[in-house]
Amino acid sequence: MEKIPSRRQFLKDVGKGLKLGALAGAGAALGIGYEKTRQNERNRIYESGDTIKTEVGDFKVDGWHLQYNEAEVKKIARVSLNSEQGGLSKNVSSLARGMQNVALPGQGVWTLKIDIGNETYEYKILPLYHTYENPTSPFYAEVELSTENLQTARRIQQAFGNIVNDPVYVYKSSEHNGFYVDEKRVEISSAVAQSPTYEGQFECVLTHELAHAVVSRIRHAVDQTNNLDLARVFETLGGFTGARNSLLEGEKGLLVNIFDESSFQKNQKVIDGHPYDNHDELFASILTVLRMHPEQLAQRIQDLLKEKNSMKEIAILNNLRAREAVRQIIRILTQLLEENSPFEWKEGANLETYRAQRKEYNEKIRKKLKLIIPKIDELEKGLRLDSLQDEMLAMFEKAGIR
Ligand SMILES: [Zn+2]
Repeated sequence: MEKIPSRRQFLKDVGKGLKLGALAGAGAALGIGYEKTRQNERNRIYESGDTIKTEVGDFKVDGWHLQYNEAEVKKIARVSLNSEQGGLSKNVSSLARGMQNVALPGQGVWTLKIDIGNETYEYKILPLYHTYENPTSPFYAEVELSTENLQTARRIQQAFGNIVNDPVYVYKSSEHNGFYVDEKRVEISSAVAQSPTYEGQFECVLTHELAHAVVSRIRHAVDQTNNLDLARVFETLGGFTGARNSLLEGEKGLLVNIFDESSFQKNQKVIDGHPYDNHDELFASILTVLRMHPEQLAQRIQDLLKEKNSMKEIAILNNLRAREAVRQIIRILTQLLEENSPFEWKEGANLETYRAQRKEYNEKIRKKLKLIIPKIDELEKGLRLDSLQDEMLAMFEKAGIR
């Protein structure tokens, strides 16, 4: 049990210092300030994958979990865990006889305190894996992710970052799942990133869950217009039935299901989307499809006109409804982007310069929208959204509704 670090140990730590320096950089981006210099083992920060060699045995940091032999430790020491950011650790399960498994949710640096008699030993733990610097929308992963996955996550978080800044957590699990939790964070299982059931699943699920964050903002807005518009779109697409039948199966399905992202996958077992449940799910699914399958969606909506089993008028009406749904989603996203960076009237501007400023502003907003829906131009053109209003009026006029 050596308390003064040897020269050999010190040199070893210099190497670690470099690694930890990089980690401290990531920490700073997450709002955790930590000194970069470390003099001995006890002052270092242990990360996921490390084992802490203590006076009472090994403590293994595995993802967001800490594992140790509780039965042995209890004989001579008292163990406590505290998070700087107020996170609560919890006992997850006994791994084996006497072994303890404690979850340390990714909330910054934890302190493991071991009391033996009058002596107290402290160890710092940062239970998160490689992440990236993205100061506005934090990202935490319990497992090591590929560079490609990290780039995907960063790209999507940045695209949505112009509207919402909810953090994303990737937790270790072999099940394929994604959630928007407590209306404040996105949680995605590591399986979605590491062993997706279809190509692009990580991007799809991230988009879907962050879209829920957008709806949360819409739902809590003082002005409820967008929320009500979404509910109306949901109703006109035949929602409220909670049914997952598909137009693809050749049966007469619900219109709402053409926006189900799962229906674009060959594997029919995939259930990543459920737009038929409520207007929140509908928004998340439409947005995912607009980002991931724009061409196929435009084709589907066009094909509605070909439907043989329904009357021609109903086919036309369905086509109009589906296009209107897309138009509303684009309108709402544009409005939210504008809210986040409002147009600023520069004093002294005349009509001409005002128009130039306005044009520049609109282009800036459009650019941000393109980060979320890259093929927005082609989509609007393919769906002929510019003539939608006129077509609807003509339809109403024909039906005698004014
Ligand atoms: Zn959902």
